[in-house]
Amino acid sequence: MRATQALIPTLKETPADAEVASHQLMLRAGLIRKLTAGIYSYLPLGLAAIRKVEAIVRQEMGRAGAQEVLLPMVQPADLWKVSGRWEKYGRELLRLKDRHDREACLGPTHEEVITDLVSREARSYRSLPLNLYQIQTKFRDEIRPRFGLMRGREFIMKDGYSFDATEEGAVATYWRMHEAYHRIFSRCGLRFRAVEADTGTIGGSFSHEFMVLADTGEDTLAICTACSYAANLEKARSAPGELVGAGEAPAILTRVATPDQRTVAEVCQFLGIPPARLLKTMVYLADGQPVAVLVRGDHEVQPVKLANLLGAVEVTLADDAAVSRHTGAPCGFLGPVGLSLRLVADEAAMAVANAVTGGNEKDCHLTGVNPGRDFAPQAVADLRAVTAADRCPSCQGPLAITRGIEVGHIFMLGTRYSEAMAARFLDQDGQERPFIMGCYGIGIGRTVAAAIEQNHDPNGIIFPAPIAPLQVALLNLAPEQQPAAAACEELYAQLEAAGIEALYDDRNERPGFKFKDADLLGLPFRMAVGKRFLKDGLVEIRSRADGANWECPLPEAAALLATLVRERMGAAAQVPLPCHRQ
Ligand code: ATP
Ligand code: MG
Repeated sequence: MRATQALIPTLKETPADAEVASHQLMLRAGLIRKLTAGIYSYLPLGLAAIRKVEAIVRQEMGRAGAQEVLLPMVQPADLWKVSGRWEKYGRELLRLKDRHDREACLGPTHEEVITDLVSREARSYRSLPLNLYQIQTKFRDEIRPRFGLMRGREFIMKDGYSFDATEEGAVATYWRMHEAYHRIFSRCGLRFRAVEADTGTIGGSFSHEFMVLADTGEDTLAICTACSYAANLEKARSAPGELVGAGEAPAILTRVATPDQRTVAEVCQFLGIPPARLLKTMVYLADGQPVAVLVRGDHEVQPVKLANLLGAVEVTLADDAAVSRHTGAPCGFLGPVGLSLRLVADEAAMAVANAVTGGNEKDCHLTGVNPGRDFAPQAVADLRAVTAADRCPSCQGPLAITRGIEVGHIFMLGTRYSEAMAARFLDQDGQERPFIMGCYGIGIGRTVAAAIEQNHDPNGIIFPAPIAPLQVALLNLAPEQQPAAAACEELYAQLEAAGIEALYDDRNERPGFKFKDADLLGLPFRMAVGKRFLKDGLVEIRSRADGANWECPLPEAAALLATLVRERMGAAAQVPLPCHRQ
């Protein structure tokens, strides 16, 4: 690719509306451009990086026995009504009508379409197992599209679906996909973890997310520092902690005055108790319905755990006015004793003896509160977010809390869709049985963005070689000098012949300008033909990742670069074994 003919509109300034490094750099390096909120055009180098990820995905899917298909993007509403998701999916589903007034949607995911297809075409156990995937543009009308390709409305996804005749077969397929994902993200040069994940509204029995570790990630993870346990905070458990007040005789329930003491910190200081002794009562709206939730003062409610317990799609914290309206008590003084509202409680809260709670009237708290004796919640469950103070549920080791970007998600779906859509096959005995399904997604654009989020410096992108749009920037630093131009032409031709993809910067610009652009684009190697060449016949090669550099006579330069690229690619292709199976 010659820079004079290419569309690589690099920017000097950081665009104001880009908050995270990957978004800023993808815009600055001219990889993408925004059309409208959450919808981007992929420019040549952005698309090239995407194609690299896609190629790795295709190879590993093939290796794992999956076949590629391409399913329609426009999907009839009827199919979604059969699965029950037309009503449930909410406003992320972009719905439309055709000229005959027939309802349809733009595919945000393809369980319905693929289940319908397979149930028509694979009627017998002899056709199973089947594992089909596609790489396609999805549309989700995200409420807050942000961070460029990280959370778009229109985005490229690899989505795969497996159909097995038996439970054991389906589980084996699931773990084969788990391993394929491990290989894919390793080959993309990412630092990642597979974590246990919530199965959410898609349904199913178990699930893992593949998380690229990055501070700007939208997900929070609990990772054991001693064993292989790792889970999304939405799902993470912990070993039972020390019981607060264990062994104490139950005290008498006592009303105490706590004038203007509302927050956990204020009440604890006022009464001289640790936060773990206090039980806080929070009011949430679960799909609009109020519910009180009890957790220890040093704990926080995990909204996804709460939503799962209540079977709600959305839970939000009620504002002060709603709290007073639903409980009759002022904010800061709510408590479970005598509360008129439906109450659910966290397990750890129920294990506190002689606790302190709000007294359901202004400036008043209760001491000596004993769960079970003084109040009985409608349900008790693990409702709180694990913290770094907790221990691993698997080995009791210390847990670390860290952030991650979800690049892949695999689900064991079971018969959630095949039952709803009456998708069955005939087994060996001629009996009709529902397919046992799994589904497997990868955000292709998000993977490129996550790689940049993890691999950049103040000068720009540092692409991992396997997903770099091209391998080398060949800079002509003396474009006005004929020998330099001739040398570059020769190198460019040799690189092409050796199968090395080069960006030949043949523009009539100053060296500093070319170096800056090359650093910004972050191709693994830079090859410069300038003063050193004109004086001593030497070509300078530099590695973007670690600054290592080489000087080499022109006739050997292309071969040396080819060796360096091969070494870098070879190292990246060494995939360590998955760290664990849960
Ligand atoms: P998230 O929680 O981030 O919204 P999700 O659970 O909705 O993700 P899935 O339905 O599992 O995502 O989709 C599979 C993969 O597609 C995700 O792991 C992610 O990499 C990617 N993905 C999902 N939503 C988006 C989006 N809005 N923009 C870019 N990629 C996305
Ligand atoms: Mg989503």
